[in-house]
Amino acid sequence: MDTGRELHDFARALYPICRSITGNGIRETLGLIGERIPLRILEVPSGTQVFDWTVPKEWNIRDAHVKDSTGKRVIDFQKHNLHVVNYSIPVHAKVSLEELTAHIFTLPEHPDWIPYKTSYYKETWGFCASHNQLSSMCDGEYEVCIDSSLEPGYLSYGECFLPGEHEEEILVSAHACHPSLANDNLSGLAVATFLAAQLARRKNRYSYRFLFIPGTIGAITWLAQNKDAAKKIRHGLVLTCIGDRGSFHYKKSRRENSDIDRAAAHVLKQQNPAGFLLPFSPYGYDERQYCSPGFDLPVGCLMRSVWGKFPEYHTSADNLDFISADALSESLSVCASIFDLLEKNRSFKNLTPFCEPQLGKRGLYPSTGGSSPELEVNARLWLLNLSDGTNSLLDICERSGLPFAVLSEAADVLAHNGLLELIS
Ligand SMILES: [Zn+2]
Repeated sequence: MDTGRELHDFARALYPICRSITGNGIRETLGLIGERIPLRILEVPSGTQVFDWTVPKEWNIRDAHVKDSTGKRVIDFQKHNLHVVNYSIPVHAKVSLEELTAHIFTLPEHPDWIPYKTSYYKETWGFCASHNQLSSMCDGEYEVCIDSSLEPGYLSYGECFLPGEHEEEILVSAHACHPSLANDNLSGLAVATFLAAQLARRKNRYSYRFLFIPGTIGAITWLAQNKDAAKKIRHGLVLTCIGDRGSFHYKKSRRENSDIDRAAAHVLKQQNPAGFLLPFSPYGYDERQYCSPGFDLPVGCLMRSVWGKFPEYHTSADNLDFISADALSESLSVCASIFDLLEKNRSFKNLTPFCEPQLGKRGLYPSTGGSSPELEVNARLWLLNLSDGTNSLLDICERSGLPFAVLSEAADVLAHNGLLELIS
């Protein structure tokens, strides 16, 4: 089976679960991720202080509905988990249509779609429905029931750590708190899980840390409890909205010129010239926390369509048809290429810096042969010229305009011939 199909199938398996920032939905999700990669599941008690925030009470839901006077469920959580405002407190009451309408959210501009609403930090209850559904409801008395609980419990998150040759780390972070929404962010969970599985099968220079966490409060909790581990992060990516058919968008880290920003820019230029680079902004997903000034970690955010900018965002139309196997597979490949570049980004020293070494007598100056002899020779000359110990392969790649893969291969050839020496 091809990778894209497998990624889409994994998103399909996660789709029906009613996730939230705490509770059994996120636990079940982490359980399914843990079947594919080595995952440690951590539980942080409600009430724990994490910087300026407090870990909230745990929310769980069993059922919810609005019944009309004939007993028919006119809004039914069993049909779609977006029908309940996420984090709604329990309620069981009889209300008039007018009273009920004050607790119902719809999208008049897309009358068939159900919006996604949350109320994490204010205790209230509510329903979401399609606008057509609400319009068809007549005056009269309705029975509302939300069978949920909001009690002291835990915030759950998952961490997959893959030790490498070095202690220095690459971070991958994806939020795992949205209910039945596919692009935001089952796409991120699926791509991150498959990326971890790929990296776990090979030897890496860097150590990798994958976090599957509730948005905002999860990243804040992890950072508050792992201040020392955070110091080891050299590069990082937040993955979100990465399964739709739109062009790639890479949002730079706060530093804007860190290696992850440059690596992502180079990979997009090589593999997806239609991709866009976005400047850093303090709004978005968990890069906001990783890039807060106290940490200022080199963490960017890779997306396809930008969150909030596509009409399906935070609605029932962000479903399994909105993401595609091909797009998921291409996103996985772009992420893998970015990490591959970082793994291979090294610095060399030219061992014969006084005039050019005679490449011809070493068989390194072909006038014919090879698929692109000119490109190879050009790469060798750039490497010999700029490898004075201060430039990395990525520096040389940017200055020469040559593809990183060509330079990396040429550096190995020159090192093999005793012309370059790897600087550790
Ligand atoms: Zn979202």
